[in-house]
Amino acid sequence: MQYISTRGTSEPVGFTDVVLAGLAPDGGLYIPDRIPDVQRRLDAWRHLSYPELAYEVVRPFVEPDELDVRPLIEESCAAFDVPDVAPVVRVGDLFVLELFHGPTLAFKDVALQWLGRLFARALELRDRDLNILAATSGDTGSAAIAGVRGRPRIRIFVLHPRGRISPLQERQMTTVLDENVHNLAVDGTFDDGQRIMKTLFADVPLKERLRLGAVNSVNWARILAQIVYYFHAAFRVQERTGCERVRFSVPTGNFGDILAGWYAVRMGLPVDRLILATNSNDILSRFFQTGAYSAGPVSATLSPSMDIQAASNFERYLFYRLGRNPEAVREAMNSFARTGTLHVPVQPENGSVDPLFLAGCADTAETLAEIRHCVEAHGYCPDPHTAVGLSVARRNPDPSVPTICLATAHPAKFPEAVQQATGQTPPTHPVLDRLADAPTRRVDLPADPDVVRAYLEKHIPVSG
Ligand SMILES: *Cc1c(COP(=O)(O)O)cnc(C)c1O
Repeated sequence: MQYISTRGTSEPVGFTDVVLAGLAPDGGLYIPDRIPDVQRRLDAWRHLSYPELAYEVVRPFVEPDELDVRPLIEESCAAFDVPDVAPVVRVGDLFVLELFHGPTLAFKDVALQWLGRLFARALELRDRDLNILAATSGDTGSAAIAGVRGRPRIRIFVLHPRGRISPLQERQMTTVLDENVHNLAVDGTFDDGQRIMKTLFADVPLKERLRLGAVNSVNWARILAQIVYYFHAAFRVQERTGCERVRFSVPTGNFGDILAGWYAVRMGLPVDRLILATNSNDILSRFFQTGAYSAGPVSATLSPSMDIQAASNFERYLFYRLGRNPEAVREAMNSFARTGTLHVPVQPENGSVDPLFLAGCADTAETLAEIRHCVEAHGYCPDPHTAVGLSVARRNPDPSVPTICLATAHPAKFPEAVQQATGQTPPTHPVLDRLADAPTRRVDLPADPDVVRAYLEKHIPVSG
């Protein structure tokens, strides 16, 4: 399988180079040059274990498999605290797909446990090293650290705004003491961290000399890992209900997770609708309702990992929606960069932007009400991100099709929201409890790109 850029002017490359590159050189995103049709294989896949199924789903996308992915998949799955990696539970009329059984209790572990191992193998093959620079406001930083800690040929430097992320999230990062992990607490905001990162990445000679890279959500390997659980969950729910078709409700920020669902559908998984659920940062739900993709100001919500108003993976969807025409993608993205808006016409046959998607949003009151409802009616406590998806799904019922809601974080990660919703002591988790008095390591730095640059230069050996 070769990968092409959504902007059409980069050379096609194989899977290993896609893993190491992240973005394509022309600024586009890599996508597979064709989507395999697996419909004839669904019956044979139905009874496979999660790791076996993952290998089958991933295989056509990684060929020729020079990284030998099967053991990497098995090890990534073994990092989860349940053998089936992503179990499905029943909550009232809905099914909940629990994606939070990994080391940091958030669904980003599904992709980053595998990406960390892929990086290590690809770097060995290419005989080079990689220094990851990331700015985080929460979940991504800890999942990225957990994915690469202790791995050879990789160092990770994570900027977080000192005192401005939840103490729990800070401890999830700073209690990791591996030598290749550097937590840089910047005296500033999350935007300062982003700005420092952009400044350093824009310095191309520096970027090359220090072999800097990102673990951003546009990396194709992340999407690929996430396609797997759509198949696995659909099979479990088909077994339990006898229904052939299912729906998924996905709490969305960067359009990564739900894009993986879209690929699963295109591969032949029988899915009735994909329910796209946002918090009040609703650029994506407005797009699927009106065809206008237009950024607004970002507001802080109870589901911070979805506080996004420019979804980095949207460009992949746009490529297909615009008839696989890279020129049209370039035009649309340029228009978005210039004016903050791009338009996609509704389809005359059905008057909809895309009949596969059903979009909605849940504001703070609806999110809190959903957490409360689940606890009171079903004894099940969702985290605030999960609650956004549950809320939109429950307001759009279809009794003829089972709905599977993706649960993207464990509620113990967001105790304040749960407390506010229920008035009760929030659930705990032993992984988080153990952090309470674990030793920590971090370096405090001013929000100054020059100081961060000097820190990197000091800790990254000259390549030889
Ligand atoms: C990142 C994240 C999301 C959003 O996922 P996208 O792929 O960005 O749409 C939802 N919930 C949690 C807990 C997350 O960490």
